[in-house]
Amino acid sequence: MENKSKVRVRFAPSPTGYLHLGSARTALFNWLYARYTNGKLILRIEDTDKERSKKEFLDEILEDLKWLGMDWDEGPFFQSKRLDIYKEKAELILKKKLAYKEGNAIIYKVEKGKVIKINDLVHGEIEFNTDEIKDQVLIKSDGSPVYNFACVVDDDSMGITHIIRGDDHISNTPKQIMFYEALGLKAPFFAHMPLMMGKDGSKLSKRHGCVAVFEYKEQGFLPEALMNYFLLLGWTPKDGKEIVKLKDAARKFDIKDIGSVQARFDMDKLRWINAEYIKNEPSKMLFALLKERFKKAGYVKDTVKEDYALKIIELYKTRAKTLEEFIPLTECFFRDDYKVDEKAYKKYFTDAESKRNLEVLNKRLKAMKEFKAKTLEDTCRVVAEELGIKAAKLIHPTRIAISGSTKGAGLFEMMELLGKEKVIKRLEKILK
Ligand code: GLU
Repeated sequence: MENKSKVRVRFAPSPTGYLHLGSARTALFNWLYARYTNGKLILRIEDTDKERSKKEFLDEILEDLKWLGMDWDEGPFFQSKRLDIYKEKAELILKKKLAYKEGNAIIYKVEKGKVIKINDLVHGEIEFNTDEIKDQVLIKSDGSPVYNFACVVDDDSMGITHIIRGDDHISNTPKQIMFYEALGLKAPFFAHMPLMMGKDGSKLSKRHGCVAVFEYKEQGFLPEALMNYFLLLGWTPKDGKEIVKLKDAARKFDIKDIGSVQARFDMDKLRWINAEYIKNEPSKMLFALLKERFKKAGYVKDTVKEDYALKIIELYKTRAKTLEEFIPLTECFFRDDYKVDEKAYKKYFTDAESKRNLEVLNKRLKAMKEFKAKTLEDTCRVVAEELGIKAAKLIHPTRIAISGSTKGAGLFEMMELLGKEKVIKRLEKILK
């Protein structure tokens, strides 16, 4: 193929909405290919739709791209600042008599009966017959270009060698090829990636859940996890390892590896990947990410006891699948008025027997000098034995007493972290 180091790809969002998961995935594959080939990634903002383009969307898109770890080499270039160039190029086509005017609009005249071929790098050869394509507006009467035309002018003048974009643009490609021909230009390579669909196989939309990248950020997905998931949706690593860091993927990724079948967005798989990233993230880094959430939940103030928080994170990072899940899971470590699971409470605290058992345990705990997980476990086992009951009969109600829930980290680690004073206080409160 052509000289790899000359590869120039682009990501061309329209600021008419928030960055969608599908667009983030397109950005990722362009980024990977640019990095893999040591080429360049150009960012172009397709903002010719004055009505629908909004500054707030643009800002959010740029912020989200940065958050996702996508960096670009040139741009952002704005189409709205290049209107003269499109006009000039359209007039060139007009001069060649390949287009006509209708008022101020310039319209490309489609020659019927021709076959246009795309050699798509993902799908192979795709043919279109121009009989099915009607005449194409190049410049609207208000002077603004249509997407297909501006896209061709820009891809050419920005030296784009490969267009990697979603399958939803396949029907635009024959039109764009006609414009390349009309301008006497060579078309770049095209690679149309299969779209990411919803779980039911239909187009991914709000019905399937959140579709905007910022919503995943809010829910506490890590950008690396999101990108890793998108990567797996279009590409199967040869070694079968599913956790792939972006920089490693960038060393291996080639366009020809993009699968040609549609991928389905699977929230459970994404959550699994996110959990893997959380688990492997140093606790200090997680703390930096969690600090704002802890503050918002009222768990910590500006002066945070970092050591304590780090221990809590250490205990829960193997359990929380998103950053947001740390909040309910860790509530009992930060507040005394944590929520109590009513059902579980009723289940374990209706009979007098469990209260009596807990009273025995409580007495023993009070006498303990060293309040460590290991010694706590031993004490609990001994008390259970003396009472002639299974340890579980002490463990479940104790866990409810100190945390309000039957779920959570290992009970003895939790007790150690909470400390003797709090554990006893909580046991006594529930026994009352
Ligand atoms: N602005 C177009 C979009 O957001 C870009 C299409 C393309 O990559 O050519 O879908």
